[in-house]
Amino acid sequence: MMDHDDSSSHSESPSRAVANDRYVVVARRYRPQTFDELVGQQHVRKALANAIETNRVGHAYLFAGPRGTGKTTTARIFAKALNCATGPAISPCNQCDICVDISEGADVDVIEIDGASNNSVEEVRTLRENCTIRPARCRFKIYIIDEVHMLSKAAFNALLKTLEEPPQHVKFMFCTTDPDKLPITVLSRCQRFDLSPVDESKIFDRLKFILASENRQADDDAISILARRAYGSLRDSQSLLEQLLSFSSGNITVDDVHQLLGTTDSGKLLDFMESLASRDANSALKMLSEFWKIGVEPERLSEQILGIYRDLLSASVGCSAELMHYSQPAEFPRVQQVAEKFGKHTLLASLEIMQEMMRRVQATTKVRILVETAIVRLASLEELDRIEHWLNVLQSPAMKDFAKSDLLIAPAGVATQLVTTQKKMT
Ligand SMILES: [Zn+2]
Repeated sequence: MMDHDDSSSHSESPSRAVANDRYVVVARRYRPQTFDELVGQQHVRKALANAIETNRVGHAYLFAGPRGTGKTTTARIFAKALNCATGPAISPCNQCDICVDISEGADVDVIEIDGASNNSVEEVRTLRENCTIRPARCRFKIYIIDEVHMLSKAAFNALLKTLEEPPQHVKFMFCTTDPDKLPITVLSRCQRFDLSPVDESKIFDRLKFILASENRQADDDAISILARRAYGSLRDSQSLLEQLLSFSSGNITVDDVHQLLGTTDSGKLLDFMESLASRDANSALKMLSEFWKIGVEPERLSEQILGIYRDLLSASVGCSAELMHYSQPAEFPRVQQVAEKFGKHTLLASLEIMQEMMRRVQATTKVRILVETAIVRLASLEELDRIEHWLNVLQSPAMKDFAKSDLLIAPAGVATQLVTTQKKMT
């Protein structure tokens, strides 16, 4: 089996990793080396520390969670904690040869395997044979299998035999973004830890720390957008930051971030939403063409529009500022205003149109046209909340009395007036 060299880059295309050497270097430099440096995931840290301190380390661990939340990093730190020359200790020294080699993914006894590319039964058979050989210099022979859910069924079956009766000197650490794909027989033999998406505020702090260490400046709002855009993946946030660092030389601004992401700032986006709320397709299309001119990408913009609709909908049902995920806190009063202008039912219908449009984006290269068409549809939506208002009027008791009356036709648009008149008459 091939050793898996760098777990942080497997989701990146190799060409990009090669083209941007510095990124790989920085991402590695800021990979947490101890449990204390691990961002978020306190419950995992505590449980593993406890296992080491009480000398109750299991033989198979499963670290499950979304991408970029620290699964492989946790496995590596745990491997160091178990094998460090001064250990086993929850704080590995990070100085001894063993620690250094594990950090580099180059230790002879800590074998990292990419489950996605080494997933055949033959690979697992080789692993089983190697398992029986004692570690060369470490306490334990540790197999870190990344993306373990990618193993074939036959490979899992072969692995199961070893998991049932593992040699004393062997530990397994499985990492996966998709634990549901693991056979229950394997799951039941692992101690499972679920790593959660990293909090935006923790990502923010980490990015600030990296910027300070790199001796670079950035506006807090710019870091804030990055932290939010990473959707809980610390690795994604670091890779975005790295791109920004090479992209602009001075202070990093909100505009730099939007330019990198192909997005627009939420203030402009709210202007845009206001034009939709006013059913002003003409202004909306003009703004779209401005967005295209400054390099906003149609897919990214669609995601932003969808996100802002989500915030507007939340505001329309009375949610507070803390529940806004796509607009800035300071913009909340404006979000409320625009939400009221739209109305809940129109917002629900608008979200449907946006989602339908985004499903179709995959199948075309003419994304701009798709977005523009959707925007005209959105700006032409009936005022559904007003319709609901009229339906309520029509179903009111007074209206029922009116229906029983001699008048046969209620002229459109004057129902309220008629209801009032009718009330006076009865
Ligand atoms: Zn050490």
